[in-house]
Amino acid sequence: MILLIGIDGYSWAWADALRERGFDTAPLLSPKPVSWLAWNTIGTGVEAQTWGITENPNSYVTFGRKGGRRPPYLWERMQAIGGRLVIANWPFVIQAGPTRGVLVCGYPAGREHFVYPASEQVWWNYHELDFSNEHELARAGPEVRKRLLAIEPAEHVGACARRRKWLMQRFVAGVERHNPTLAFLGIMDLDRLSHYAYSAMQDEEQRAAIIAGICDVIDEITGVFKPEATIIFSDHGLDCSVPPQADGRGEGHGTNLPASQRGVLALKQEGYSLPSEAAALIDVAPMVLRRFGIDHNLSGIDRSVSAEEKNHD
Ligand SMILES: [Zn+2]
Repeated sequence: MILLIGIDGYSWAWADALRERGFDTAPLLSPKPVSWLAWNTIGTGVEAQTWGITENPNSYVTFGRKGGRRPPYLWERMQAIGGRLVIANWPFVIQAGPTRGVLVCGYPAGREHFVYPASEQVWWNYHELDFSNEHELARAGPEVRKRLLAIEPAEHVGACARRRKWLMQRFVAGVERHNPTLAFLGIMDLDRLSHYAYSAMQDEEQRAAIIAGICDVIDEITGVFKPEATIIFSDHGLDCSVPPQADGRGEGHGTNLPASQRGVLALKQEGYSLPSEAAALIDVAPMVLRRFGIDHNLSGIDRSVSAEEKNHD
C-alpha cells in the first residue's frame, strides 16, 4: 500500500518533526496559497487555474454547475489499472463520483454527496468530518462565524484533537475493510485552527503540541500498516504572525505571505529520496502515479497554461 497523508496548512518551517520521523523532505511551493485551488491542483496534477477554478470561492462552487470539465483526480486514474482505494477526507472535491473502494469528500461537501458509494455512509459521520459542520454553520450567516470565533481557542483545539482521533480510527477501519493499493487521509486541523483558534497557533508551545498530535496520527497509521511508501504533502504553509482580521472573517491564514507559500512534501520509502530542490503542487500526482507505473501525461492538457487563459467563461 502507498499511503498519502495530506495536511492542510503544514508549513515548511515545521518540517523538522517529519525529518525526525525518518522522512525525506522538500519545500512544496504554493504560490497562490488558497486551499480549494491547491487541493485541486494536487489532486489532478494540473494547475486548477488552468481549468477554471480561481481565487474566488464562487468559481469552486459554480464550476460543475457551469458545465466545467476538470482533469481526472489521481484516484480516478488509479481505477483504470484496477487500483483499490480508500480516499478519506479529501477537501474541495469537484464532481465527486463512484470509486473502486471508498471516497469520502471533506469540506465543504454537501451532506448528500460526501461518501461514495452511499453504502459506506454508515461508517462516516458527516458532522465529525473536519469543517463540514462548520461549513453548514457558516452558511447560516456571519453571526454564526462570529460565534465560532468567540469560542475559546482551547475548545477548538480540543475538538480538533477529538475529531482527528475519530477520523484516524475510521480511516484505519476503512483500510482494513478495503485493503487498498492507495490510501489517503486528509487532516484539516492546522488551517482550521489558524482561522478559529489563531492565538493557539501563534503560540509556539501550543502550536508544537498541535503539530505533535498530528504527527502521532502519522506514527500510528504507519505503525499499523507499514506502507511500502508514505508521502505527506500540504496545500500551503501558514503564516502565524498575522492576526485575524478585525471584521470577524476569521483570517489567520497569512494568505500571500512568504511562509504561506511554502508547504511541505515528505517521502519515506526504502531506497528513495526527494530531489533537493523545491517541488510544485503539480508534482505530487505524477509522483504518486509513477509508483503504480502510470505515466501522468494527460494528452490534450497543457499543465502549464497561464492562469488567465481559461478563467473567463
Ligand atoms: Zn488550506
